[in-house]
Amino acid sequence: MSETLTDPFARHINYLRLSVTDRCDFRCLYCMSENMTFLPRHDLLTLEELDYVCTNFINLGIEKLRITGGEPLVRKNIMQFLTSISKHLITGKLKELTLTTNGSQLERFASPLIDIGVKRLNISLDTLNPDKFKKITRWGNLNKVMNGIFEAKSVGLDIKINVVALKNTNDDELHDFVSWCGDLGFDLTFIEVMPMGELNGQNRLDQYWSMNDLRKELESKWTLKDIPLKTGGPARYVEIKETEGRVGFITPLSHNFCESCNRIRLTCTGQLFMCLGQDDDADLRKVIREWPGNTEILQTKIKKAIARKPKGHDFDYSRQKVEGQIKRFMSHTGG
Ligand code: SAM
Ligand code: SF4
Repeated sequence: MSETLTDPFARHINYLRLSVTDRCDFRCLYCMSENMTFLPRHDLLTLEELDYVCTNFINLGIEKLRITGGEPLVRKNIMQFLTSISKHLITGKLKELTLTTNGSQLERFASPLIDIGVKRLNISLDTLNPDKFKKITRWGNLNKVMNGIFEAKSVGLDIKINVVALKNTNDDELHDFVSWCGDLGFDLTFIEVMPMGELNGQNRLDQYWSMNDLRKELESKWTLKDIPLKTGGPARYVEIKETEGRVGFITPLSHNFCESCNRIRLTCTGQLFMCLGQDDDADLRKVIREWPGNTEILQTKIKKAIARKPKGHDFDYSRQKVEGQIKRFMSHTGG
């Protein structure tokens, strides 16, 4: 009989986000500081350990696996791991294997990804302007990312563009994004900036652009129709009448989206976080390395952790200061 994971609030946990590396070829302003210190390599789970732990999660009822990072496609031999894990797509135990990527390596990887059964990608892109792209990502090259996006489209991958809404940075490009994604048939999601990691004294409130304000701005130009698209995730969706495109809003700050949370996150060092916005974790690397191959001990540890999944996060900017700040960077836990 197949297993399922259910938390204390009767939420059915079937979605794992796995960070395969904390390293990245970009240094996005809101995500990393310029001089990031990365983890020693031996702290990271090996590709074999990643495969082993994912297989155990899938045997416990995880049906959707999203690979993230850092930049997942800069992890050495990443296709070896992805190809191995795709065997669970063939058996049908895993229903979906997807990635969140900055797009920089997609020219090379789009085709092998579709070959192993990946159907959709989330691609993070915060501006359509090359100079601004350089400023936001510090190290990125928009041309390279665009080539990757078009390669992914041409091989038949469905694409969702994720934009972090940044006040005084990309607020002037809102309508351009809607037109561009509408023309190309890409879904589009806006995300509120979250207080993850300390950024060299930079104040998160200076970056924060609330989804309520963003939505009002959208309504000034487009006709929005709410649609009941249920992804099991935190986004709420509208359809733009003029483009027939879908736009989603991820609003961790202005709305609490936790009640329907079906996901857990595993870091590249094997820490299982039951909530992105809380510090409690379970150290699965310790179990894997102390009892290699002992699936019973590993699965018991996972079930005990799920039994502690909290009701929600405590991110809050409403009192004009940042509350619920989390020390970890998003690139460590995996966005
Ligand atoms: N490197 C890949 C990418 O950029 O798509 C995957 C990892 S990145 C950490 C995943 C997502 O988290 C990206 O869409 C990024 O924009 C988002 N992100 C990073 N830091 C964030 C923050 N402080 N608040 C909101 N979103 C953030
Ligand atoms: Fe790298 Fe993604 Fe973070 Fe940007 S958001 S620095 S691309 S991990």
